[in-house]
Amino acid sequence: MAKNIISADKIFDGFKWLIEKALVIEDGIILDIIDKNGIENVQHFEGILTPGFINCHCHTELSHMKNVIPEATGLMGFVGKIMQLRQYSEEEIKSACASALEEMQKNGIVAVGDICNTTHSLDAKTNSNLEFQNFIELAGFLPEQASPRFENGEKIAAQFEKTGATSIVPHAPYSVSKDLFEKINAYSQDKIISIHNEETPDENLLYEKKEGVFLDLYKKMNANIDFFQPTGKTSLQSVLPYLNKPSQILLVHNSFTSESDIQFAENQAKNTHQQIYWTLCPNANWYIERTIPPVDVLRKNRVKITLGTDSIASNYSLNILSEIHRLQKHFPNIPQEEYLQWATSNGAAALGMQEQLGTFSIGKKPGINLISKDFQTIKKLY
Ligand SMILES: [Zn+2]
Repeated sequence: MAKNIISADKIFDGFKWLIEKALVIEDGIILDIIDKNGIENVQHFEGILTPGFINCHCHTELSHMKNVIPEATGLMGFVGKIMQLRQYSEEEIKSACASALEEMQKNGIVAVGDICNTTHSLDAKTNSNLEFQNFIELAGFLPEQASPRFENGEKIAAQFEKTGATSIVPHAPYSVSKDLFEKINAYSQDKIISIHNEETPDENLLYEKKEGVFLDLYKKMNANIDFFQPTGKTSLQSVLPYLNKPSQILLVHNSFTSESDIQFAENQAKNTHQQIYWTLCPNANWYIERTIPPVDVLRKNRVKITLGTDSIASNYSLNILSEIHRLQKHFPNIPQEEYLQWATSNGAAALGMQEQLGTFSIGKKPGINLISKDFQTIKKLY
């Protein structure tokens, strides 16, 4: 591909607006960033140029469940519906994975933090141009499940390693035993992990008082949780201390996270030299629970926010711009560039891909998106 000089009404470089600049590119690689005044042959686009978007939380393997689960069921209703669904053939599941990755690419996403419970997304990833951080997800609230579940996770992880960095991660505080947390932690030195955090108020009720819907769930599953002692603390404050080895932790959802939880997590991170990223999936929160995460409290505490789509089972599309639109409805006063930073440079750093992605910097090939002037639609240019 020939060398090209491109500019637009506005250019966002991953951190800030570039004023009167143009990008010199070849094969999608940023060769130079120059003053556009007086330069001939500048190809001008109407709208905003941004680096490729980063989707920090997805479950590609659930893509066959698009449009099958009704909205506003609440988390327990959602989990119940998933368990009642008909069986899908492996072919249907794998083909839906491939379509999901294509949809993300079309919507300007260049990298995905992707949850894997199975190897169903493996073929689609092998054939995709997207970058992946695979999070092999383990669950098991009964202590005796820890060893077999972890061994199974190791086998799945080994298969994903050829498609990108791969780590073994806990599903959520309400579904992982202390024993399993300890096994995951021991394996996580210098790795990036994620965990679903405070998606429903009952998660805190379980840890604070051993009350709430999770007790019914475990009863229904015939799981005896007599061993479990409430800590009197929120779920996050109860389990985060088990995870002191990973270099980075993505806390996902945070719909019911309080300011004291935020400060607790940031303090632990400071003491253990970890990085915490607060990954928000507002469309999924809206779809499942009709809630929106406490973005104002997170911003007040100056933490690092990133964005994710969650799975298409609980979303309308796999499009990070649509996640921004959802937040803009509830937080219209947050500057556009801050939202874009969450979608680009913050996301790239969260997935450990900041050397290649997330910003317009010389030598990088970050993907180039064009967002329409009215901020409503997105197109992948390179
Ligand atoms: Zn999720």
